This record gives sequence, structure tokens and C-alpha cells, in this order.
Amino acid sequence: MKITKVEAIPVRQKNDVQLNNDSAQDGIIIKVHTDEGIVGYGEVDSAPWVVKAIIESPSSHRICRGLGEMIIGEDPFEMERIWEKMYVGSQFYGRRGVVIHAMSGIDIALWDIVGKALNKPIYKLLGGAQRGKVRAYASTLMPYTPEEAYDETKKWVEQGYTAIKLGWGGFEQGNREIIELVRASREAAGPNVDLLFDLGFIPSDDHPIDAASRMPLIKELEQYKPYWIEEPLFADDYDGYRKLAETTTIRIAGGENETTRYGFRQLIEQGGVDIIQPDVTRCGGLSEAKKIAQLAHSHHITCVPHAWSSGIVIAASLHLVTAIPNGSLLEYCVAETPIRQEMLQSDIVVKDGYAQITDKPGLGIEINEDALEKYRCDR
Ligand SMILES: [Mg+2]
Repeated sequence: MKITKVEAIPVRQKNDVQLNNDSAQDGIIIKVHTDEGIVGYGEVDSAPWVVKAIIESPSSHRICRGLGEMIIGEDPFEMERIWEKMYVGSQFYGRRGVVIHAMSGIDIALWDIVGKALNKPIYKLLGGAQRGKVRAYASTLMPYTPEEAYDETKKWVEQGYTAIKLGWGGFEQGNREIIELVRASREAAGPNVDLLFDLGFIPSDDHPIDAASRMPLIKELEQYKPYWIEEPLFADDYDGYRKLAETTTIRIAGGENETTRYGFRQLIEQGGVDIIQPDVTRCGGLSEAKKIAQLAHSHHITCVPHAWSSGIVIAASLHLVTAIPNGSLLEYCVAETPIRQEMLQSDIVVKDGYAQITDKPGLGIEINEDALEKYRCDR
């Protein structure tokens, strides 16, 4: 089998819908075509038009090449070799960041192709199911008042979720407001629901973003028993992460902005976090996410992939979490944006708080081509 064409299709919700301040408002879908008629899909949760340029760029020189033309004619089954080819062929301008994001979307599409060709779900190709079911956490934005935080938490508890994450939004306020939001959320959830809080490294006049400033806040939050605190610091502050992780009983999570096994090695070894959150559409794809999960496993660290865009990233993450021994939760984005809600013919199903694992081939999803055309935004 040979790759014949790579399409990078930016999508964006229409402007008559108010732009939300999170990454599910746009995206870029990757379609990889083959000479056998099998089409694989991937997604990249990054800067869509930059990703498109990296895939479509003509080559400049040996280690400064566009990703698309590098993989035309390659066999999708040779995905490890293709990954290294793309990584080395983009060294001059890549190694981390958006080039790895773009590679991730292509890599996911290759896994989709191979699964479809073999008529097997990706989790089986990753080595098989380590668990029969995957607990999903409802992932939503933190509102700005305690009353709204109470209602938002209650809403997802009533829908059967046993784990809920609230992040960003209201956490841009001062420490007193953050504590009140967390208190209200715990009051709504009761003692038996796991609550995850994503501070989203948002600085304000009241709290600069450094470990010393975050420490008293996180100490104060311990009484509300969060399951984890996510990204309390900037991604580069590895020493700060370690200080926080060593001084609180709450798990510290991070890594959605990290790429490759090399980046995660630093986050794990220097940062000392309790949970890593590679995003399969950014960290280097499923091929790299598997290696990152194995690296974490060798340090007895849990891997909970970050997933906040369309249903494609959720499907890919579900296969990964199913197949890794140190997986536990699936991030299930409940954002009500068209990109999240409409890109699949039928969404990943969550029932009684658990995501349903599919045995359909590849990613096991069907793309809504009408929605893809409707939200396509090439400029
Ligand atoms: Mg986050």
C-alpha cells in the first residue's frame, strides 16, 4: 500500500457563534489517502493554519522539508520509519512544538489506515486491551461564580459521571475566588465524586505564576480533596512542578503542552509530576504517545491523555487508554462547540460514566463529511 495524498483541512466554527476562548473552537483534520482506496483520518489540536503550512510546504533542504511531500509513496504500515523520517527531515525548524503537532495528525491517520486495512481496532494494534472499560471524566470550563460552579458540577454528576474536571475560566480570578469556586464544586459533587481542577497557569494581579505563590493556594485546596491539580505553573517551570508535587498531598498533573518522549522525560524526571497528560494530537501521535506512556510506566506514573477538540482526538485517546497498563481516565470534552459536537457521524458513547470501547476497525469512527465541508476554513 502506498500513500498518494495528504490533506490538511482547517475547520472553524462560524462567526455567528460567539468565539469561545478554548481550543475546541477550531481545529485541523488530516486525511491521508492511499492507492488502495483506504483513507485515514487524524486531527491536530494546534494552530490550524500553521499546521497546514508545515504539511503543504515544499522542501527547502535535506532537514528542512514539508511533511506531506516526505511521505507520498510511503507504506502506511511502516509508520515508525515514517515518524523518524518526518522527525529528521524537519530537524532544522522542528524537534518540538507545532512540527510535532503536525506529525501527530499524520501518525494518527496512519494508525487509522492500518486498522482499516487489517479490520482491527487500534487498541488491538497497540497491544490489546488492558481494561474492559474506561472511566470518562466530564471535562468542562470553570464558571466565574460559586453558584455557577455548583450548578455546572451538579449537571455532570446527574449525568452519571464519577469524575469531573473544571478548568480555566473562573480560575483567572484571585486566590480567594479560586478557593470559593472549588468549595462550591465539592459541595455540589459530594464526597464520592473525583474532582479535577485545571488552573491553566493563568496569572493575575493577585497570584503570579510561580511555585512559592501557588503553594499556599494548593495547601488551602487540600481540604476539598481534589483528585488532581492540573497545570498550576507554566510548562517550562520543571523545578517549580517538583517543588509543588513534593509539598502537597494532591496529585499534580501536566504535560498537554509537552511534545515527544524527550520533553516528557524532562517533565517526569525533573518536574516530578504525578500524572502526565500527553495530547495524542500534539505529543507526536499514537506512536509517540505509546512510548511516552511506557516511559511514565517505568516511573510508576499514570498517563491520562489530554483531549479537548473534536471526537477524533477522543477516539484516538480512548484506544490509547484502553491499551496502556498505566492508563486510567479518559478526558471527555463536553464543550458545546460545533467542532466538538458535529465532526463525527456518531459520538463516542459514555454510559454511566464509562466510555464504550469500539471494535470497529481503525479509530472506529465515521467522519461527518458534510460538517467537514461546512466548517472548512482554508484561509
Ligand atoms: Mg489543561
